[in-house]
Amino acid sequence: MSGSTEGDLTKTGMSLKHDREWDYELDRIVEAIEERDASKVGLQFPEGLKRRGPQVADDLREVAPDDVTFMLSGQPCYGACDLDTYLMRRTDVFVHFGHTPMKESDSIVYVPLFSNVDPFPIMEESLEELPDPEEDPDVGLVTTAQHMNRFEEMTDWLEERGYEVHTRRGDDRLTKEGQVLGCNYASADIPADQVLYVGGGKFHPVGLAMEHPEKTVVIADPVNNAVSIAEHDQFLKQRYASVHKAMDAEKWGVIFCTKIGQGRWETAQEIVENNENAYLITMDEVTPDRLRNFDMDAFVNTGCPRITTDDGPRFHKPMLTPGEYEAAIGERPLDQIEFDTFHDTW
Ligand code: SF4
Repeated sequence: MSGSTEGDLTKTGMSLKHDREWDYELDRIVEAIEERDASKVGLQFPEGLKRRGPQVADDLREVAPDDVTFMLSGQPCYGACDLDTYLMRRTDVFVHFGHTPMKESDSIVYVPLFSNVDPFPIMEESLEELPDPEEDPDVGLVTTAQHMNRFEEMTDWLEERGYEVHTRRGDDRLTKEGQVLGCNYASADIPADQVLYVGGGKFHPVGLAMEHPEKTVVIADPVNNAVSIAEHDQFLKQRYASVHKAMDAEKWGVIFCTKIGQGRWETAQEIVENNENAYLITMDEVTPDRLRNFDMDAFVNTGCPRITTDDGPRFHKPMLTPGEYEAAIGERPLDQIEFDTFHDTW
């Protein structure tokens, strides 16, 4: 492990945070406007980039025909699963910034906004955690949408160092080779005992390690400039604690998320059909405030798994994934709890 370099931001994009230049691909947007003879254009940014919205709209106004109106989505947005369908229906061109497509669509212009952090210094350090390629050359490679633009280069880089790199596209929810989402790790379903995850944050690699417990997941985090091995023990302990708390629950709130790429209708229906003390609750954004007035003993969230696992403790009552719910009502052994994943689109 190279914990000693954790926090050293000099070689990463973090130190450049304030002068980081994103490529908003204005030309491609203007092309779509002209092609469709559009007069209304919707712009949707993820939370971290919303403050750039007005500036991007100004820049577009300068280059687009005069009669075009630009509108900004104010809806919360955390993924490509989360499109502002209201604005989409009312505009001729809809631009979604910050994520690669979850599903290819002619009516949406996706502008991914890739990270400009160089991933290779931290990949070099991560080699210490991978086996010598002469002994075991097989390694899987996965990354997030942010670093997707360097994926081929990363593959070549590992191959030049003697590794046989295994990659795959995952399932219908993933449009890019080697890409993982916080709710889908199908691209790590490859014949190798080690997987190198290049990307920031702990959530993705923990999910990856839980989905593929037989593999060692090495994290090369170019954003925080740190290498580590994904551990899921702590995460599992927290999940067990939530399930225990929910075991005595009588009244259950079953959340169905109305965001376009987060709805699991059948799962939600099945729960309410089989439990007369369960109530289906529909909502787009799932927040503690919105649930506080419901007099429930526990909740099951069929929407984004991150809300359950990352934000779970912020809710006033235990919040479980559908699999954890089965454990809480005694239909599944506690030690068979799995990471909650999503496999469909819309
Ligand atoms: S459902 Fe959640 S984890 Fe999956 S892509 Fe959407 S925001 Fe990310």
